[in-house]
Parts: sequence; C-alpha cells; structure tokens
Amino acid sequence: MKFSLVADTLGYMEGTTKRLELTQHLVDLFKITPPEIISKVAYLLQGKLRPEHEGIEIGVAEKIAIRALSKSTGVPALKIEHEYKKVGDFGHATANILEQKTQTTFLKEDITIERVYDTLFKIAELKGNRSQNMKMKYISSLLNDASPIEGRFIAKIITSNLRLGVADYTILDALSIAFTGSKENRPMLEHAYNVCSDLGRVAEDVAKNGIEALKHFQVSVFSPIRPMLAERVKDAQEAREKIQADFAAEYKLDGERVQVHMQKDKIILYSRSLENITNYYPDIVEKIGKSIKANEIILEAEAVAINENTGEFLPFQELMHRRRKYNIAKAVNEYPITVNFFDIMFVDGKSCLDMSYKERRRILESSINEDSFARVMPMMLIKTDDEVEDFLENAINSGCEGLMLKQLDSPYRAGARASNWLKLKREYKNELGDSLDLVVIGAFYGRGRRTGRYGALLLSAYDENTDGYPSVCKVGTGFTDESLDQFYQILSDKIIVKKDPRIDSGLEADVWFEPEVVIEIVASEITLSPIHKTALDKIRKGSGLALRFPKFTGKIRFEKTPENATSVDEIITMYNSQKKVVQDEKQF
Ligand code: AMP
Repeated sequence: MKFSLVADTLGYMEGTTKRLELTQHLVDLFKITPPEIISKVAYLLQGKLRPEHEGIEIGVAEKIAIRALSKSTGVPALKIEHEYKKVGDFGHATANILEQKTQTTFLKEDITIERVYDTLFKIAELKGNRSQNMKMKYISSLLNDASPIEGRFIAKIITSNLRLGVADYTILDALSIAFTGSKENRPMLEHAYNVCSDLGRVAEDVAKNGIEALKHFQVSVFSPIRPMLAERVKDAQEAREKIQADFAAEYKLDGERVQVHMQKDKIILYSRSLENITNYYPDIVEKIGKSIKANEIILEAEAVAINENTGEFLPFQELMHRRRKYNIAKAVNEYPITVNFFDIMFVDGKSCLDMSYKERRRILESSINEDSFARVMPMMLIKTDDEVEDFLENAINSGCEGLMLKQLDSPYRAGARASNWLKLKREYKNELGDSLDLVVIGAFYGRGRRTGRYGALLLSAYDENTDGYPSVCKVGTGFTDESLDQFYQILSDKIIVKKDPRIDSGLEADVWFEPEVVIEIVASEITLSPIHKTALDKIRKGSGLALRFPKFTGKIRFEKTPENATSVDEIITMYNSQKKVVQDEKQF
C-alpha cells in the first residue's frame, strides 16, 4: 500500500481541528488498509513504530535529517537550514525543498508503507557512534523517492515532530466505525486496548478477526495493563454512599505505582503511565524473584522510599532521586525502598481481572512470600465508619497519604476511574485542602527576577468526554528559583508553534505547549469564571470553573500522563461538594 495514502490523511488531519472530521479521515484510511499492515499504519499515525512501553524511538537529530535531505536533493545544507528557519517547521521546510528539487531522479520507486516503516525501524535499531552515516543513508534513500507531502511527514516522524493531537481514543473510535459500522462498539475495542495498551495489536485483531473476537482478548505478560484509578472522597460517610457495598481499606502510600511483569527470570517494570522503568529499580529486579511463588505473574505495587532505621515511609519526592540516567546504583543505596503489593492481574496462565477484589487479594497473599523488602499492602475489612477513622489515623501516623477504599465484589477495571476504588486523604476533610494534578498547556514570560524564564503557567484539567484540555487557572506562586529553571528546561521541549486543537482557553499565552507535563496544585476555592473553559456551560451558561489562589506544591508528577490529570468531572464534583459545605455552614 502506498505511503502517500497515509501522508494525505495526515495532511488533511493537519488542516482540521474538528474531532469528527479527524475521525472520518482515519475511518477512510482504515477501510482501505490491508489487515496485515494496519498495525503499522496505526503506529505511524501517531509518529511511533511500536507501542510507547516498548521504548522504541526513531530519534534522528535534525542535523542528520538536514544532511540526508541535502544528499538526496543536492540542495546545500545551509540553504535547507535557512528554509527551515524561515518556515519554522522542519516538515514544511522538507516539502518546500523537495518541490524545488534540483537533481531529478529518473528511476523513482513508489514508496510503500512497508518500506517507510521498515526503514524507520532499521534507523531506530541503529546504535552507537558509527550509526549516524547509516541513518543518513536510509533517510536520504527514502527522501530521494518521496513526493513533497510524503517527505513532509517522513521528516516530521523521524525528528519526533508529528504533533497532530490524535489521541488513542480517536483512533479507537475510527476503528470501531471502520470495522463495525458504528461507534457503539468502541467499548469492546477500548477494553482490548486497556488490557494490552497496544493500539496496533487491537487494530490488527479487529481488522483480521472482527469485533466478536475481541471478547476473548487475553491479558499477556509484558503487555502492560492500563491501571485502574480511584475517585476521591472526603470521609467515610461519603465513601459508604458511593460504594453502597462492603469494602476494605488499604494504606495509600505516597510512592510510585509499579506494574511488575515476571516470566521465569525475566522482569519488566512499568510505571503508572506504562513507561518501562525497569532501569530505575535494579533492586526490585534483583530481590523480587525470591518472594514470588509463580512462574508467570502480573502484579501491582507501590514502591516507596523508606527510612531504613525507623522503617517509616518517606514522601514521593525522595523516590524521584532515582530518575536519573547515570549512577543508579548510588541512588539505590541512598534512597532505599520497599515494594508493597496491592493487586494481582495474572498468574500462571490465568487472568485475574474478572475476579472480585476479595478473591484477588486472597491469591495475592498466597503468591507472595513477604520479607523486609517485598510486602503485601496493609489491609483491613471495614464494618463501621469508626474503623475507617482509626485505620486512617494509623496510616497517617506511619507516613501514608491516606487510605484506598476498595469494594469487595469489584473486578479489576483496567483503565477506568470508578467508584469501586476510592481514595481518602486526610486533607480532603477541609474543603478544598485537596490538591489537583493539572496539565501545563501554556506559559507567560516573567518580568523582574523572572526575566528570561516563565513567570506564570497556564494549566488545564483533562476532559475525558472530549479528550480536551480546557484551562482552569494561571499559576504564578509556589515556584522557587530552582523550579523555575527546571520548568524552563523541561517545557522548552514541549513548545508548539500552533496551539494544539485540544487546548481551550480564553487567555492568550505567550507560548503554548504540547499537553504533557503534569504538576500538583493546591488552591483555596473553585469559582465560576468567564475566562477559563473547564466545565464550560455545565454549572452556568457562558461560565467555566477556575481555581482561586492556585499555588504550585513543588511536585512535578512525572509518573502521570495528561490523561491521568484531574478530570473536568472531578472538578465539578469538588465544586459541588464545596458548595454543600458552605450551605451546611449557613444552616448553623
Ligand atoms: P492519586 O495519584 O492521588 O490519584 O492516587 C492514586 C495512586 O495512589 C495510585 O496510582 C498508586 O500509585 C497510589 N497508591 C498507593 N497505595 C495504593 C493502594 N493501596 N492501592 C492503589 N493505589 C495506591
């Protein structure tokens, strides 16, 4: 199949911000794609070669790409650089150069999707110093045969600049329409996706075997499962109202969520956003095997930094010292951890996802030999509200954030935020003492001491219903000099020339970012706002919701993806419960 079909689709998609149109372009493409290569198409549309968790990066430096383009067109590199500076986008610059191509090639090969994909794969596999020349050769051979629009998107993909904002869920919608005729079957596709986190695999399965086959979609080791998430509550009474069934309470530790996949001696660890984090935890890899009584297993745990002398749990920030490329061994020594297992999803050929919490907990306990490093999360079956209060007190005293409350009958709902799991933190009891995890979507340049850096950030919630990022506040307090420098560095990679169509804000930021970085914020209150777009028209026509007196807590939530940020629905709930508190107070 010709690569031009993918390039044309990407071209149409770049020209629209409407989700329906984006979806329709994808549907048209999927309908004409042979099942054998649909997985490749699904990855390429997102600028990838494999699912994110496999960590395969094409990663070609722009310099190399420029040299390759120069080689294939005969246009001097300096002239290409000049064109690039002029148009500000490497893809467009490549297309312009290819249009003006001076060397005409007579023997042109049609570029197929397979050829583009396989060449990019070879490039991604090249490692080491000597690889640059080989990379250049591969790229120039592709560009040599590419039309301007094909070149534009090849250039964007190889330099990791394909930023179309096609979310996973838009692709699932399109697959559902293309292969079942309607969006109604999306939940089945979504379920398969939540179980394997691999869009290519789901696309191939539905294209080859039809929607019915997805019912039997299997959990497998080394395909991470999208984690189950919790809703928040402010006390035991609210928990009881929400759960409406028997539940257990577990400690809620303030560490990093780790999904452990093990098959015999091989262990891979995935973060909450399903990134492969095995390298950060050599101690887990080394020690965990002897605690696990199975050949093949998928478990979930919270890795927490501890004070080895007192056994006390330490806060999340301590763990972040491990997020470094070099000298991990030193960090492992300086920041010891324990691993606290709280769920099991698969054991020796059997999926546990459909089992109840109670059953999973029983299997979990019988699958782990506890020692001082590997433990099973402290848990208590709850009968009365007082028991929740007492257990919460214990948890807080041992350095936990609070409790997780889990319904005894509930299955593991991969990828869902549901009321079968609730989180109860101590500070939730005071109105909005609760923190929010928000996405950085834009920034404003600083003045005075902050000149040359950002003075304030524009933040959004995540709208699960539209896959959008509506703004909810502008934050300028809570930053230290160090954190301002850090933000400037981290965010400079995320700058986008054109505002992402998923971003919605009444404020014009000086710079816009790809919605990727999540930070923690506290605020005094949620108010109606004419400027911010979170929950627009939901409470009052023409108004959104905004945070009053927002403050950065110092925590960058590296482990969270933007889709894990506080959702619009959660903010509406917080707004409503805050209103209730005010009304309740007025009655007295
Ligand atoms: P939050 O990040 O505030 O939405 O809380 C959810 C996070 O709490 C999870 O992603 C886990 O990293 C963490 N956590 C700590 N203890 C538990 C537990 N017992 N069960 C589930 N999640 C837990």
